[in-house]
Amino acid sequence: MDGSNNSGGRSVLVTGGNRGIGLAIARAFAAQGDRVAITHRGSGAPEGLFGVKCDVTDSTAVDAAFTEVEAEHGPVEVLVANAGITDDTLLMRMDEEQFTRVLDANLTGAFRVTKRATRNMLRARAGRIVYISSVVGLMGSPGQVNYAASKAGMVGMARSISRELGSRNITANVVAPGFVATDMTETLTEDRRKQILASVPAGRYAQPEEVAAAVTFLASPAAGYITGAVLPVDGGLGMGH
Ligand code: NDP
Repeated sequence: MDGSNNSGGRSVLVTGGNRGIGLAIARAFAAQGDRVAITHRGSGAPEGLFGVKCDVTDSTAVDAAFTEVEAEHGPVEVLVANAGITDDTLLMRMDEEQFTRVLDANLTGAFRVTKRATRNMLRARAGRIVYISSVVGLMGSPGQVNYAASKAGMVGMARSISRELGSRNITANVVAPGFVATDMTETLTEDRRKQILASVPAGRYAQPEEVAAAVTFLASPAAGYITGAVLPVDGGLGMGH
């Protein structure tokens, strides 16, 4: 990828692309003709996508997954760090293991895949990295000290990478979705759901495809001069942040 060629056919890797938002992102890249690989943790790959087994908390597994993707599609040119978990509870009840487990998957996981991907991006002097953060990373959320910290961390990570690698034609941006209809939000109580919807100017959840559209834009040649940015896809929930 040289930033001027949108003929498609780039090697794209989406972590956690087997379901939810990650799957919508993977499908959006595939629809525009890119060679898309996704990671999963045992579910296998959805039809039409190349899947590699990978837990992002394990750097050996990350390295092996990249090696497999590179053999199939060539070096990763577009990385989407999407894999993530929640483990919500109020601070008073949150133990250290709960905090570090979420940080390890969401933030250190993003670091592991970034580090492995940038090795070849630096050689190619081109690359696009998109982090799937959350509106909660900037606004905070009761019961989500661990999750919000991990998502806020992605902003500092993307901005530091932008400063380090900007001159090599590598961009690093953050997409901050609001509430999206997936398995993750399926677990919310009816009361919490009503509360959330009352505070979203758009008055509805996002569809995963609406998040995917922001990601494919940031990875497109049209976004070549955008780096270190946080693009909210939140129906107005986080306005001003
Ligand atoms: P889902 O719970 O539907 O999917 C989570 C994905 O992450 C799955 O593919 C899962 O893999 C993968 N994953 C989790 N832990 C690991 C790990 N250790 N290693 C590798 N893969 C892992 O979530 P969503 O699709 O809703 O969320 C995707 C991203 O978007 C997350 O980062 C989330 O924080 C973020 N987000 C979601 C919002 C929402 O409202 N849904 C709002 C804002 C941000 P597996 O199938 O193996 O479990």
